[in-house]
Amino acid sequence: MAISTFDLFSIGIGPSSSHTVGPMRAAGRFLERLVHDGRFQSVARVQCDLYGSLALTGRGHGTDRAVLMGLLGEQPETVDPATIGPRVQQVQDSRHLDLLSRHSIEFEPERDLVFHKRSSLPYHPNGMRFSAFDATGELIALRTFYSIGGGFVVNEDAASEDRIVPDATPLPHPFTSGAELLAICEEQKLAIWEVMVRNEMAWRTRPRIRKELRAIATAMRDCVEQGCHNEGVLPGGLQVVRRAPKLYRDLTSRPEESLRDPLSILDWVSLFAIAVNEENAAGGRVVTAPTNGAAGILPAVLEYYRRFQPGADEKGVLRFLLTAAAIGILFKEKASISGAEVGCQGEVGVACSMAAAALAEVLGGTPRQVENAAEIGMEHNLGLTCDPVNGLVQIPCIERNAMGAVKAINAARLALRGRGDQKVSLDKVIKTMRDTGADMKRKYKETSRGGLALNVIEC
Ligand code: SF4
Repeated sequence: MAISTFDLFSIGIGPSSSHTVGPMRAAGRFLERLVHDGRFQSVARVQCDLYGSLALTGRGHGTDRAVLMGLLGEQPETVDPATIGPRVQQVQDSRHLDLLSRHSIEFEPERDLVFHKRSSLPYHPNGMRFSAFDATGELIALRTFYSIGGGFVVNEDAASEDRIVPDATPLPHPFTSGAELLAICEEQKLAIWEVMVRNEMAWRTRPRIRKELRAIATAMRDCVEQGCHNEGVLPGGLQVVRRAPKLYRDLTSRPEESLRDPLSILDWVSLFAIAVNEENAAGGRVVTAPTNGAAGILPAVLEYYRRFQPGADEKGVLRFLLTAAAIGILFKEKASISGAEVGCQGEVGVACSMAAAALAEVLGGTPRQVENAAEIGMEHNLGLTCDPVNGLVQIPCIERNAMGAVKAINAARLALRGRGDQKVSLDKVIKTMRDTGADMKRKYKETSRGGLALNVIEC
C-alpha cells in the first residue's frame, strides 16, 4: 500500500476529519457509484445511518451537516464554509435535497439521518451506512463506509481486509517502519524528505509536488492569520470565547515585553495553534494534519520555524512538510490516526511526533535525530485520551494543540542534542501507542462518555 503526503495533508473544513471530512466524502462516493451504475435517476429517497462514535459525537462534530453537504455534491476541499449553514437550513426548511445539485428528492432529516448511539459496525468505531430507495420504496443500493481518521474513507471490503485505502502504486523506496526508512536513508545517502520526494514522484512531477506543498503551506498560514483575527464565540453551545485574537493583540501591542521574556516565543507558538484550532472548531478552512482535531500543531511549529528561526526559507518549509508526512505515514501504516480508535494519542500525539521530526529536519538533524525527535514526540503523549466536552472539538482539543506544539519543539531540541542512538526506537513507540489504544476503554475514544467530557459541567 502506498500513502502520499497529499493523503495526509488535505485542505478541507472543520471541525473533524473523521466526523466531517470523511462522512462528506463517503456521501459523495455513494452517489457517484449510483451515477456510474446508471441508477442515480431512479433514486427517490436516501437514508444515512451513523454508528459508534459518529453517532455519539456526530452532532457536535457536524457530521449531519457534512453528510448533507456530501449528498448535495460538495467536496471538503472546495466547499465554501460560509455557505454550509444556510444550505443545511434550506434543506431542513424545504424538506427537499438536490442530490449532487441536480436531482431533487424529499429529505426528512429525522427519518433519513439516523444516529445509532448504542450500536457500532464491526470494523471501526466510525461506521456509516447509506441506503437508496426508488419511488416504490424498494432498496436499490446499500453501502457501508468507515471514516478511519484524517479524512480517509474505506468501504466495507477494504475495512475487513486492511485499514488503509488500497493504492498499489509502486514506489521506488517503499517503507512501513522507521527502521526501513532509516535503512533507505543510509543506503541511498538521502534525507527523509528526499526519500519522500522520490516516492511522491510516482504520482506527480517535481514541479507539481512543489506547487501542492506550497498550497498546503499557504493554507496553513492563512488559517493562522484568520484565527488571529476572527473574534466571537465558537458554535455548539459551550459558549467558548475565541482566545486567539486577544492573545494576538497582547503579543503585538507590547513587543517590549517579549524582549524581556525569551519564553514569549512559546506564547506565539500557543497563539498559532489556538488560532488554527479555533478556526477548525468554527467550521473554517483548515489543513488536515493529520486530522482536524490536531490541525494546529504542524502550522504552529511551521510558523515558529518561519518567523523565529534564522535562515528559514521556502525550501525548508517544503522539507518540513515532507518529513512530517513520512512520520505520519508510519503511524498510519502501523497504528492509527483516529481518536475513535486509539484516543487522542492518535491525533495530537501523532501531530506532535510529525512536527518534532519536521522541525529537527529543518534545524539540521540527521535522519537518526529526526527519527528520535518523532519518537520523543509520541513517547510523552502515550495514553492520551479523547474526551471532548459535549462532543465538540473545543475542550480540551484547542488548548491541547498548543501544548502539543510546544512539546514538539522541545522534542526536536532534545533530539538534536543527542546522536539518535536512544534506547526507545520510533517503531517501538508506534507499537506501544497502538497497543495502548487497543487497551484503552472505549469511553476514552471519542465517545464523550469519559474523562473531561464527564467531569466538566456543560454550559
Ligand atoms: S480530544 Fe484529541 S482526539 Fe479527541 S476530538 Fe479532541 S483533538 Fe481529536
